[in-house]
Amino acid sequence: MSKELMVFDTTLRDGMQGLEINYTLEDKLQIATQLDEMKIDYIEGGFPLSNEKEAAFFQEVRQMTFSHSMVCSFGSTRKPGGRADSDPQIAALLDAQTPGVVVVGKSWSAHVEKVLKTDNEENLRMITDSIETLKREGRHVVFDLEHFFDGYQDDAEYSKQILRAATEAGADVLVLCDTNGGNLPSLVTQVYTELSTENLAPLGGHFHNDCGTAVANSLAAVEGGAVHVQGTINGWGERCGNANLCVFVPNAILKLGYEPACKDRLSHLTSLSRFVAEKANIIPDKRQPYVGTAAFSHKAGQHADVLAKADYLMEHIDASLVGNARQILLSELAGKSTVVEKLSKYGTYSKNDEVVGELIGTLKTKERDGYEYEAAEASFDLIVRRALGLYEPILEIRNYHLESYKAYETPSKTVGRIFLQAHGRDLMGASVGVGPVETLDAAMRDALEPHYPFISRISLTDYRVRVLNPEKASAAKVRVFITSTDHAGRTWDTVGVHENIVEASWEALVDSLEYYYNEYAKEEA
Ligand SMILES: [Zn+2]
Repeated sequence: MSKELMVFDTTLRDGMQGLEINYTLEDKLQIATQLDEMKIDYIEGGFPLSNEKEAAFFQEVRQMTFSHSMVCSFGSTRKPGGRADSDPQIAALLDAQTPGVVVVGKSWSAHVEKVLKTDNEENLRMITDSIETLKREGRHVVFDLEHFFDGYQDDAEYSKQILRAATEAGADVLVLCDTNGGNLPSLVTQVYTELSTENLAPLGGHFHNDCGTAVANSLAAVEGGAVHVQGTINGWGERCGNANLCVFVPNAILKLGYEPACKDRLSHLTSLSRFVAEKANIIPDKRQPYVGTAAFSHKAGQHADVLAKADYLMEHIDASLVGNARQILLSELAGKSTVVEKLSKYGTYSKNDEVVGELIGTLKTKERDGYEYEAAEASFDLIVRRALGLYEPILEIRNYHLESYKAYETPSKTVGRIFLQAHGRDLMGASVGVGPVETLDAAMRDALEPHYPFISRISLTDYRVRVLNPEKASAAKVRVFITSTDHAGRTWDTVGVHENIVEASWEALVDSLEYYYNEYAKEEA
């Protein structure tokens, strides 16, 4: 059986319909560049008729060179009763000047009747006329059959008529769409099997995740003979999203042996997933298969022990195949082998080394005080550096002073000043903000940035507070977690604990900067 497979990305079209998803024009161009580097076969750029930003994307994209991907514009078949060569939808598809076009047509007679308000014969003519016109203009035509699976269950013979008509009109690929996402893999398998005896253009699939089965349906489609699958990076798209390419692609390659062009770029998948999350301004789902930070994380000391013997005993694939990394989570459960694994970055250590026992002791004391390092590896890394004498602080605090005030009818504000020693000098920073943590962060940056320019690259992406012993009410301890990024694909997490939320935040903020400094930016200082 042939193992060819084309991967079609619709992050920039269907993906844009997702809740809270917004990409600027610049974001879209950068994402397209990354998709090309990933050797994704098709990039659906958007719907050129929908707004000016979409039209501008096609203008910009024309100036760019793509080494692998074919960029496509998206639109629907011509209107009922008209002609494709004078139809505004078809004209917009052609004006986008992309080598590929995706034309979407109705394939469920209920939609033909109720939405298009025409009959099945005219719908067939609309499809044929539209595809033929686009083919005459030399376009590669991807024909999306909207609501195909629902239409097929209603009237399979009409569905087949559409497929035959589109094949004859010259469509390059026929994409069966589960537009409302309501169908299961068993039906998908049945439909592709039944169609395998027909003499049709190559088949593809486009699945939505309303039943949580978009990836499963896509896999059922390729196993049933589909050679083209559409989806989005991280699965974000309309409603519950589209088939998640970050899960589908490694499954197709590593589990089923398919060989799409992106196979030799598979180790870039995790960074692509995080890049798109960064552009969407969405915190990546840690539990996402393959590319999530938890995908190869292990907690119990025993797990870490087994991993040290043979990793295939605990992991379904080698994390590096998809560009992810194994994480040994730190906790009181962690045994010495977990700590040895953490130390391996700095040299070869064994369970009997003094530093291992010392670190386990520190970990236990800190955890009793309320610290947790499973989600704050960067803070733990600083503890390791301290134990090994490899830690270099960037500042020493003298004092900080914050004053929050609120007056009648004016918004509340915080004024902050900080005095610290860094770079062998006494420094001062000041800021005015809304909340105390934001103000303290800004004041610290104000003092440090002239001496440590790397700080300007770093920003916080997430800030979480947990009250640890709520029975003590306002005297309770709080634990603060901070996630930071340098906007170059690196993210790291730090933790702080204190009765005072500002002090807990201060600790996590300083850890964040010191971690980045020690790990990446020492030479720049
Ligand atoms: Zn869709």
